[in-house]
Amino acid sequence: MSQQGYVAAPPYSQAQPGGYQGGFGAGPAQPLYGHYGGPPQAFNAPPAAGGMKSPASSPAGMPPPSGPSQYSPNVQQNGAHPQRYASPSVASPTYGQPSHSVYNSMASPAPPPTQQLTNQMSAMNLGSYGAVQSPPPHPAASAHPGRQSTHMSPQMAPPQSPLINMQASGQPMGGQSMAGPPMGGQSMAGPPMGGQSMAGPPMGGQSMGGQLMAGPPMGGQSMAGPPMGGQSMGGQLMAGPPMGGQSMAGPPMGGQSMAGPPMGGQSMAGPQLPSGPGTFQQHGVGPTGPANYPQQGGQFGGLMSGPQPGMPGGFPGAPGPLAGPPQKKLDPDSIPSITQVIEDDKARLGGQVFSTNIRGQVPPLVTTDFTVQDQGNASPRFIRCTTYSLPCTAELAKQCQVPLASIVKPFAKLPKNEAPLYVVNHGETGPIRCNRCKAYMCPYMQFIDGGRRYQCTFCNCVNEVPAFYFQHLDHVGRRVDFYERPELSLGSYEFVATLDYCKNNKPPSPPAYVFMIDVSYTNIKSGLVKLICDELKTLLEKLPREDGAETSAVKVGFVTYNKVLHFYNVKSALAQPQMMVVSDTAEMFVPLLDGFLVDYQESRAVIYNLLDQIPDMFADTNESETVFAPVIQAGVEAFKAAECSGKLFIFHSSMPTAEAPGKLKNRDDKKLVNTDKEKILFQPQKGVYEQLSKDCVAQGCCVDLFLFPSQYLDLATMADVPSHTGGSVYKYNNFQVETDGEHFLRDLRKDVQKSLGFDAVMRVRTSTGFRATDFFGGIFMNNTTDVEMAAVDCDKAVTVEFKHDDTLSEETGALMQCALLYTTIGGQRRLRIHNLSLNCTSQLSEMYKCCETDSLINFFAKSAYRAILNQPVKNVRDILVNQTAHMLACYRKNCATPSAASQLILPDSMKVFPVYMNSLIKTAPLVGSAELSTDDRAHQRLSVMAMGVEDTQLQLYPRLIPLHNVDVGSEAVPAPLRCSEERLTDSGTFLLENGHSIFLWLGQSSPPDLIQNLFNVPSLAHLQPGHMFALPELDNPLSKKVRSIIGELLEKRPNSMKLQVVRQRDKAETLFRQFLVEDKGLHGGTSYMDFLCFVHREIRQLLT
Ligand SMILES: [Zn+2]
Repeated sequence: MSQQGYVAAPPYSQAQPGGYQGGFGAGPAQPLYGHYGGPPQAFNAPPAAGGMKSPASSPAGMPPPSGPSQYSPNVQQNGAHPQRYASPSVASPTYGQPSHSVYNSMASPAPPPTQQLTNQMSAMNLGSYGAVQSPPPHPAASAHPGRQSTHMSPQMAPPQSPLINMQASGQPMGGQSMAGPPMGGQSMAGPPMGGQSMAGPPMGGQSMGGQLMAGPPMGGQSMAGPPMGGQSMGGQLMAGPPMGGQSMAGPPMGGQSMAGPPMGGQSMAGPQLPSGPGTFQQHGVGPTGPANYPQQGGQFGGLMSGPQPGMPGGFPGAPGPLAGPPQKKLDPDSIPSITQVIEDDKARLGGQVFSTNIRGQVPPLVTTDFTVQDQGNASPRFIRCTTYSLPCTAELAKQCQVPLASIVKPFAKLPKNEAPLYVVNHGETGPIRCNRCKAYMCPYMQFIDGGRRYQCTFCNCVNEVPAFYFQHLDHVGRRVDFYERPELSLGSYEFVATLDYCKNNKPPSPPAYVFMIDVSYTNIKSGLVKLICDELKTLLEKLPREDGAETSAVKVGFVTYNKVLHFYNVKSALAQPQMMVVSDTAEMFVPLLDGFLVDYQESRAVIYNLLDQIPDMFADTNESETVFAPVIQAGVEAFKAAECSGKLFIFHSSMPTAEAPGKLKNRDDKKLVNTDKEKILFQPQKGVYEQLSKDCVAQGCCVDLFLFPSQYLDLATMADVPSHTGGSVYKYNNFQVETDGEHFLRDLRKDVQKSLGFDAVMRVRTSTGFRATDFFGGIFMNNTTDVEMAAVDCDKAVTVEFKHDDTLSEETGALMQCALLYTTIGGQRRLRIHNLSLNCTSQLSEMYKCCETDSLINFFAKSAYRAILNQPVKNVRDILVNQTAHMLACYRKNCATPSAASQLILPDSMKVFPVYMNSLIKTAPLVGSAELSTDDRAHQRLSVMAMGVEDTQLQLYPRLIPLHNVDVGSEAVPAPLRCSEERLTDSGTFLLENGHSIFLWLGQSSPPDLIQNLFNVPSLAHLQPGHMFALPELDNPLSKKVRSIIGELLEKRPNSMKLQVVRQRDKAETLFRQFLVEDKGLHGGTSYMDFLCFVHREIRQLLT
């Protein structure tokens, strides 16, 4: 039974707006477990006519489910045909209520032993940044170029290798980074995997001719180009996927047969990473390849696109200029391309339906548009994983060093064609939970004993089925009401929470939004205060509301402040708003209860009045000092008094220097950059803000911060509370209403209208053998298991790391259940459940095959950004590089078909991982450049910590969209190009965006008619880029098309972006160029190609 118990694919899952069409009946029993690798078989059970199964079909003698009248009122609001579900009945009195009190006891009874946890945390990867040891000097770390060759393996005849040549003659790249010895295996601070386990014999010298490249379990390989100089690939069977031209880097592979499944196992990045011809030729098939396959011998000499002089900081070591004869330039198309990987995935899976009925199924990329059918596992919109096939043992996990993590976005937006989550109401009984581990009823529970009991698949405890919940089992052991109950057949759903889940056993009040406006001199003078007040008049009409509700239940309140706080009574009965001033900011209190938090609709007239008056009231202010912590404190106190959760919108411009708790002073010190003390720049000031975060989380008070600084304001400290309360921080440097107003207002509108949950606590439960050990996000942790969030919105994600406790079973797989207890925007207490089942494997090749690079990089970004709080940025960069090399070397050693050590062989699922990693290393927080603003670095660090996979993907690999030859008649957005200067052309026009910035770049030879059509000026010279933040609305197809593309992007991203028009060679172009992440970093860090070469060298070191 255990293998057969879960069958999915009811026809209701046909994702239609109309939703949950009740198909059921005994569909074909599709065993979910243990069938990975079989055809997907998203079986389509015939839609059962008529819909729902009558509860009356329960044989007599059993407690029949009660009638369908017991739905939560919310069910209807959630849309789709809730009545299809047989209603869960309210428990009969005999069965009483659960004895446990559950508020805040999402906690399982069996917290992990601390010691074990500690051990695990210290293992492996980035969780253990602190443990960096000093390995012996490593060639890569040597600043002495000439030493490289001495460390090469015997096979690697030094002089022949272009790579070696380059390195040998390279100038030290990022000198300080190279000077250290951090590169060895030990510096991975990891398990005993380092050198020795990777020390397989070098594979160099094997012939590839006639070799079947399809690694046993890998489903094929792709060759990114000719593996090495002089070698022929003739006759080679490439059992690889159609990898697209770019991954077949290099010359055409004529004569080869390409066969194999569409899921390539590995790719081989060829030419740029060749060992010398000598290496390979001794065994290689030599020049006997197909005639159309050019000899590569001399071709890679110019591989590195030249010197990278003066690279400050950044990446530890990279090849420098080539000595010797003039080098030909390698075609950059020859190394794996993110844009191609994205396009390939779109071509393969775009527009298709992804059914979640198969355990461990790797979803389409985040960049691909697809439709999800929930058939028993949570949609990838809610949970993505670094790998969908966990290594069975801790040993394997240590060996590969691939982090095991999930990125959970509990409130992810669903497209219109996917049904919102169903709400299950079990009445006063509340959700059914395992007695031991408290896991919630879900598709993985195994009903036994004729349906009287169920075994929890998380902890194996056998539980009685409450009488009201009893149902018979069909011939495959599945409950006959399977398709009628979301909690039995779907990966994601909600439960109505009972009072046990509410604070003080009282139903929560609807949340409140408090708008707190800094009315000091700067903000008045810039016109910001007036802008905000004017906007609020319309924006408050659009407060978020419960699905189906006519009006918003959100209460609103208003505070203005400078050195003192002004509270406003806006009770509807008043003719005029009343102001109350609190000047004692040391002991913050709220001077009024009644009339501060009000219903907007009722008090609209008074609020309008207030918003009209505020700009005038402070028009003559000279006050330039502000307080900050007391402002947050006031918000928390107001929520406490009203017994509600909610959000503070704080609009603030300067460092709080007025005498008050949380007063800050300028501690910016660029001299700390690139020293061991650099971490101080990222650390918040302790004390007041730490306590405020706790208070806020305890009250469910989320803080959103809109900053308008003209200079340093210690963002690391000011954003501390927002970053622990699920809030967002927006920053508008040198704000001017004319140029930044619209940008800010777009952000504000998006933010106010976001769907979100309040006063949330998330618990991640797992089946035995592994456990969630670490959490990254806009969260607060009072203990090791409960993830508390004052609020969590549709764009916030928590990255959860897992470690092994024990051996995982390939047969049963691994399960996780994320349960989020929260208060809805309408003030209802709910539990949102996301379930996901993963495969487990004892084959590393299978694990690599199921990796997801976008998720991996999300994990690495967050863990690295956390690590820089505690250790030098340079160490963190080194660890990132090391771990990259280890992950890839392990693949190479254990999974790839034997081949020359000189070849870089990448798992297909991770072939663009190095691009992202190199981009991450070059990001502002990690790059270690004194040219960057400390506040900007802190801001980026904190933003990324709460990002989901889509956002980190875009952040680390911006989209570069060519516009000059856009098809104005087509709906489509042109395919993005690689983020490199090489892709720009003098006559081209490009859009570049990364979710936070958007540029329109104009080549210096842009055709005048294009300029005319877009800007209504005759030539580039007439443009005033510094004064242009939107395109004029012109009535021509090109203008319309380009504006529609930009509009779509602005709409889609969580943050609004300010359009910056940049002309080629303008000074402002540097801003744009820092987003060309395949090129050498402006502030340090190497080009992608150099990074790949460096990583390859590291891999070879590990393999020898
Ligand atoms: Zn259990």
